[in-house]
Amino acid sequence: MSSRLGRLFIISGPSGSGKTTLAQKLVRIKQLKLQKSISFCTRKPRLGEKDKKDYFFINKKEFLEKKKIGEFIEWTKYLDTFYGTSKKYLDAALKNDKNIIFCLDMKGARILKKKYPKQTTTIFILPPSKKELEKRVKDRGNMVTRELRARMKLADKERKYAKNYDYTIINDDLIDTLKKISIIIRGKNNKEY
Ligand code: 5GP
Repeated sequence: MSSRLGRLFIISGPSGSGKTTLAQKLVRIKQLKLQKSISFCTRKPRLGEKDKKDYFFINKKEFLEKKKIGEFIEWTKYLDTFYGTSKKYLDAALKNDKNIIFCLDMKGARILKKKYPKQTTTIFILPPSKKELEKRVKDRGNMVTRELRARMKLADKERKYAKNYDYTIINDDLIDTLKKISIIIRGKNNKEY
């Protein structure tokens, strides 16, 4: 594999850990030369989310058709929703020497790390506490209690996987966390925080 290929940065963490906000802010830091991978997903947009910007929102039938013809380099089912990363998009970005940031669950992170071991850096974001996590998820507003409970339960499971990542960062201060990730992306840091 050519050393000129772009690099992949994967952010994972429980719902409410702040990974999406972090990824959105990181792409705005010009020096990092990052672009965000936009996944396909079958849930409804949340308040403020936009089609083709946050996700490509499609229905389950469309998703399963794409999956069948091999459009996804990886995909997952998270609670009742399907999510997938476009193979075409990733290949094009890599060929153009782009650095890409992804927000993926643990399964997606594992698959991309295995497929692109040298190019991929995995970062796990943890919320400062369980209480804070619950507050952040609740603040999203349009989540039914059943989904909130399911996400919180999954968060416990996800936390245990943090050790499999290249880096783990507790997101108790957004600016501070952004600085830490920027340093990782520039490749100037060691693994400990
Ligand atoms: P949310 O519904 O909160 O936007 O996302 C739920 C979970 O799915 C998050 O952990 C998010 O990072 C993950 N996710 C989003 N897109 C993808 C994807 O394309 N592949 C995988 N494996 N996970 C994804």
